[in-house]
Formats: sequence, structure tokens, C-alpha cells
Amino acid sequence: MDYSYVPLHSSIDIHNRCCGGRIWCVKDICGFVCAFLTWGLLLFAEFVVMRVILLPCPYPVFSSINIVIFQTLAFLAFSSHLRTMLSDPGAVPRGNATKEMIQQMGYREGQMFFKCPKCCSIKPDRAHHCSVCQRCIRKMDHHCPWVNNCVGESNQKYFVLFTFYIASISAHSLFLVINQFTICIKHEWRECSPYSPPATVFLLLFLTFEALLFAVFTMIMLFTQLSAIWNDETGIEQLKKEEARWMRKSRWKSIQSVFGRFSLGWFSPFTKPSFKSKFEGHFYSV
Ligand SMILES: [Zn+2]
Ligand SMILES: [Zn+2]
Repeated sequence: MDYSYVPLHSSIDIHNRCCGGRIWCVKDICGFVCAFLTWGLLLFAEFVVMRVILLPCPYPVFSSINIVIFQTLAFLAFSSHLRTMLSDPGAVPRGNATKEMIQQMGYREGQMFFKCPKCCSIKPDRAHHCSVCQRCIRKMDHHCPWVNNCVGESNQKYFVLFTFYIASISAHSLFLVINQFTICIKHEWRECSPYSPPATVFLLLFLTFEALLFAVFTMIMLFTQLSAIWNDETGIEQLKKEEARWMRKSRWKSIQSVFGRFSLGWFSPFTKPSFKSKFEGHFYSV
């Protein structure tokens, strides 16, 4: 039996939303701090790569190619971050466990279903309650403070892209910073940067540390996400070692349920994945 959500009243649920309910936004201070920190670190990398490494570089071809690569990755990483943060991860409407709604969904008297006591919603299979978002999230993987949002059914693609582009930009920055160190040491720190040698060393070392840390962290995260999608099992389900009550999709179907049909749009944070049916496969435990 497959049920979709039919709102009983047309008023917009403004919980976790801003701009008149149009944009999803979790109001969590810790999440905001982490998200701003992510942007700050991206801006710092932007400053060092451009002002210390690429703009003063005497080789225009090398400099131009790397500026294009770096700026493209920075733009895609920032856009993926914003999209993950501001997309509804798949929140179940709050307080929909009403008699009226239960009848509308076709439950008969005596039938069993899961109800979340915290947000008073009819809990679809594979949904979990997030204490930060204060909502039940469909196919919730985890709550990530770096994107100040849950990673769930409706925004997992953007989160995977975010980890992919941050891992790529970190690897590119590492290549640039190691190359710059080699040049500076070769020229005994003369004419290797518009800044003094101690300032240059500090900026390059900090960028090395940042790039290394984020390359490792996001690559692990990316691998974990891809393996979860491959096995059609969310992070929470893996952690709880839950017995699969749901019908596991084939590998290809599972990938398509996150990224949509294969196209270049898979790599774009601006393309919403296209599904055959948004609510396909949401069975309620009865
Ligand atoms: Zn809940
Ligand atoms: Zn959450």
C-alpha cells in the first residue's frame, strides 16, 4: 500500500523555514557557526591561492588554467553547500497523526502504524526523528552541523556533491601549495610572493593544514555516502545494524533514487533530481 501526503489545510508550515516559508532553514546556532566557518575557510583558501600563489605567478598559461579550475571548484563547492543547507531534507509534516489524516490515508480501525511522539507525525518506514531539526526526516542519514541540516532523502545528492567538490578543491589546493613551496625554496624565498617570507610561510602552511584535513575528512565522508547509497542503507540504519524491513533496491535503482536519471545534471547542484514519482516506495509500517 502506497500513501502520499495530502495536506489537510493549505497553510504553509513555517517550522524550520524562512522567507515566508519558501526556504528551508534550520535555526540552530551551532549549525550557523559551523556553516559560516566553512565559508570562512573557503574564503581563506580563495585568498591564499589567488593572492599568494596564482596571481603573482610568472607563467600565464599555468596561472590561467589553475585559476579556472580553482574558481569552478570553489563555485560548485559553495553552491552545493548552500543547496544542501537550504533544501528540505525530506521532513514529514508535523502533527499529521490526526484522526482525519489517518482515515484519509486509508488506515482501518485496528491497523498499526508508527507515530512519532516528539513531532506527532505518522512516521514513514525508514524515517527517523532528528532532535536538532525537531522533525522526522525521510531516509535520514545523519544531521551534519557543517551544512546546518539533516542529510535525508531529498538533499542527499547535494551533500554528496558538496563532499566531492570540497575533496576536489582540497586536492587541487594541496597540489598548488606544494608546487609553491618548491618554487619558494628554490628561489630562497625571494620573489615567490608579494608578502614577507614569514607571512608567506604562515599562509602556505595554514592552507596545507586546511587542505589536508578537509581532503581526508571529505573523502572519508564521500566514500561513506557512496557506500550507503550503493547498499541502499542509510548511516543511521548502518549504525543501528537494523534488520532491513524495506525492499532493498538494486544498486542502479538506489543510485537513481538519489541522483535521478543519469545525465550531466548528476554533477550540478542546480539540478533537482528527477524521479518517476516523488513518493514512490514510501510504505507505512502497518
Ligand atoms: Zn518526529
Ligand atoms: Zn536534523
